[in-house]
Amino acid sequence: MKLHQIAEKILYIDGKPPDFESFFMHKDIYDSAFSSELLLKCSRQVGKSVLEASMLILSSVFHKFYNSLHVSPQELQMHQFVKGKLDPMIKHSPGIKALLTSNMIGYKEFVNGSRIYLRYAKVNADRIRGISADSIYYDEVQEILWDVIPIINECLAESKYMRRIYAGTPKSLDNTIEFLWTQSKQYEWHVKCDACGHVNIPYDGETMEKMIGKEGPICTKCGKYLYPPSGRWEPMNPEGRILGFHITRLLMYPKDETKRKKQWKEVLIKYETYPKNQFYNEVLGVSVPVGGQPLTMTEIMQATYNLPMVIARTPEYKVEKVYMGIDWGIMAEKSFTVITIGGFDTDGKFKVLYAKRFYDTNILEYIDEIVRIFTQSNAVRIGADFGAGATNNMLLRQKIGDYNRVFEFMYTAQKELYRFSKGKIMLDRTQALDRVILGIKKKEILLPK
Ligand SMILES: [Zn+2]
Repeated sequence: MKLHQIAEKILYIDGKPPDFESFFMHKDIYDSAFSSELLLKCSRQVGKSVLEASMLILSSVFHKFYNSLHVSPQELQMHQFVKGKLDPMIKHSPGIKALLTSNMIGYKEFVNGSRIYLRYAKVNADRIRGISADSIYYDEVQEILWDVIPIINECLAESKYMRRIYAGTPKSLDNTIEFLWTQSKQYEWHVKCDACGHVNIPYDGETMEKMIGKEGPICTKCGKYLYPPSGRWEPMNPEGRILGFHITRLLMYPKDETKRKKQWKEVLIKYETYPKNQFYNEVLGVSVPVGGQPLTMTEIMQATYNLPMVIARTPEYKVEKVYMGIDWGIMAEKSFTVITIGGFDTDGKFKVLYAKRFYDTNILEYIDEIVRIFTQSNAVRIGADFGAGATNNMLLRQKIGDYNRVFEFMYTAQKELYRFSKGKIMLDRTQALDRVILGIKKKEILLPK
C-alpha cells in the first residue's frame, strides 16, 4: 500500500480523509514523504501545511522512536501551524489521537516512542541546539537565513534517516528556496491539452501568465481550457539531488465547481491587483527573474572601468574616500575570507579598487596583512562581518588602534535594508545581495579591468 492510501485510511483533515480528487498533486508527494531530501516550492493556499502535518504524523506512527523537528521562522507561524493544522489533524484522526501520550505546543509524543518537536529559528539556531532528530521540516524556508540551516541540520548527526523537508514560497531569486530548487529534480505538473495535444509546463511566470484564462487555466498553444487533474509530475532536472516539487495555485482544481469558480475568480483579482512580484510568488509559486537574477560573465565583463586593480589609488581613479570590506570565512582547514576596497567616484559610481581572497588558515598572519593593506590604501573605515568574525574584529581593532574605524555588520532577514542595533549594522541579506547584483548589471558598481 502506498503512503497516500494509508493516509486516506488514518488521517482526517477537517473531519474528512485527504481529498486527492481535488488535491491530485499531493498524491505523489505523500508517497515521497520518506525520501531523504524533499523540497516543496509552493504558492500560497495549495495545502502546504496540511502536507507537512500529514508527513509529520505518518513518519511518527510508522517508525518507532522516530524524532521529527519542525522549524518555523517565527513563533507566530509556529503557533499557527500547531494550532491551525497539526493539532486539529491529530484530534480528528481517532487512530492517531489514541496513540498520543504527550501533547504540548512545542512537543508531541506517541506511544511508540516517536516525538515531534516544534521550534522557530530565523537568524540563529539558539532554540534548536541539543535536539536530536531523524527528520527536519523547514516551514517558510525562504524566511530562514541560509547560514542557519547547516547548524540546524546538525541535529540529524546521530540519525540513520537524516531526512530534510524544505517547504516555502519563493521571494526573490536570491533566497534559500531558489538555491535549493537549482539542486532539485524540479518536478513540474505537466498538463496535456485535450484539444491540441500540447503539453503545458508551468515552470516559469511568463508561461503561466499565458495559461490564465477567463474561467480557468488554458493551453498556451490553442487557448482551450485545460483539465489539470489529467496531468502528472515530470522532472525538469532529473540529475538533481533533492526531490523538488513546484505546487502552483494556477493548477488547483477543486472537484466542487462552485469552489473552483470562486478560487479562479480570486486568482484573476490577484492578477489584476497584486504587484507582479507578489503575484508571481504567492499565486504562481515562482520568482520574478529580474534584478535578483544571477550575474552572467558578460555582465561582469561589461561592468568594468579601464584601470587596473590597485591598493593605493592615484588621482586617475577619481575616488576620494575609500572603504574596506571584510567577509570573514574561517574554518578549521579552509579559509574563504575576502577583502574588498572601493569607493564612490566623482560620477557617483562605486568603483572596486582592490579585492583579495585569503586561502591561508593562519589568522594572525593574515590579520597583519589586512592591516598593512588597510594602511596602504588609506581607507577611512572597515566594514566587517560579525558572526564568524567577532574575535578577528577585536584583534583588528587592537592592531589598528582605533575602535571606531571598524564597523561590524550582521546579516539578517528583515524588512529594512539596514538598521542599527547594539553597536552593529543589521543588514538584510536578500536586499543587500540584490543591490550588489543589480548595481553590477546597471554598471553602477564597476570593477577594475
Ligand atoms: Zn491546446
